[in-house]
Amino acid sequence: MKDLKDLVRPNVWNMKPYSSARDEFQGNASVFLDANENPFNRPYNRYPDPLQWELKKKIAEIKGVKRESIFLGNGSDEPIDLIIRAFCEPSIDSIVSIAPSYGMYEVAANVNNVEFRKIKLDEKFDLDTDSLLEAANDWVKVIFLCSPNNPTGNNLSRDRLYKVLNTFQGIVVIDEAYVDFSIEPSFLGELDKFPNLIVLQTMSKAWGAAGIRLGMAFASPEIIAILNKIKYPYNVNLLTQERALYMLENKEQMEKQLRSILSERIRLQAALPELNCVRKIYPTDANFILVEVTNADTIYKNLVRQGIIVRNRTNVTMCNGCLRITVGKSDENDALLEALKKM
Ligand code: PMP
Repeated sequence: MKDLKDLVRPNVWNMKPYSSARDEFQGNASVFLDANENPFNRPYNRYPDPLQWELKKKIAEIKGVKRESIFLGNGSDEPIDLIIRAFCEPSIDSIVSIAPSYGMYEVAANVNNVEFRKIKLDEKFDLDTDSLLEAANDWVKVIFLCSPNNPTGNNLSRDRLYKVLNTFQGIVVIDEAYVDFSIEPSFLGELDKFPNLIVLQTMSKAWGAAGIRLGMAFASPEIIAILNKIKYPYNVNLLTQERALYMLENKEQMEKQLRSILSERIRLQAALPELNCVRKIYPTDANFILVEVTNADTIYKNLVRQGIIVRNRTNVTMCNGCLRITVGKSDENDALLEALKKM
């Protein structure tokens, strides 16, 4: 990896971060007259911990990483944007990613006026490592990868991910939003080996908490310090911090729900290919299945008419004729299968 200083935008490297009242004081106190808060309406009158240390302690324990290697944000969409803002000089630097994949990498690049190069996956929806690395010239600061990938559902092969991590001298982001649904291990265990690695995870999928908006980025403490430097001071609100901690402390709940989703996934994988309107289903390591159907637009509209919403991906690169179907509860999946039977 290049020196971090050569990868971070010079203005970000040189700037002084905003210092909030709660950043400056550490220790015990009972009278807080430092932050222009209202003394009434406890506990919501107080600003939340800007660095979310209590929550990070629990996440560190569950994920087996150091607290200093964790960044928490308003969904993983926040670190996606911050990574681009930290490393990519608008209209000079570039990003390389894959197609098809999660749309927000490109949107965040466009917002920041950063060139976004997409390398098509191969016919097995796996990485074309040679083309990817060829596109990753000196101006490319970040490679965004997603495994299991959205919308294809599969894991990118591990040896190809290692090749990218070993070869590319800039930052490699592996978005693991769906990793809990996969039997393959996370790349979190590789953080110490690869100083250029950032792993993204989220509470929106397996943890069933998309509504609270809690995204996680894991990386070296040096990279995390850069993200902390440029984030909004109180980017994760108190309600989210409290609720996330409660959920992490009651992990069995999530594990039970995860088992149910995985068994429903198996059921859908068996039932969908039997339907007349289904041409093919793709292998999945996520909580959704990419399904090629006889006529994606018509079937999508018919489902909507019956109050069943799936994601029409027919206009996405390599997904012609495909719907992306999230695994629901048993009765929801029944309703889907019943409706599709008649199409
Ligand atoms: N990464 C991927 C691959 C996703 O599919 C999504 C959401 N669909 C996200 C990140 C965003 O997750 P969050 O809710 O944490 O912002």
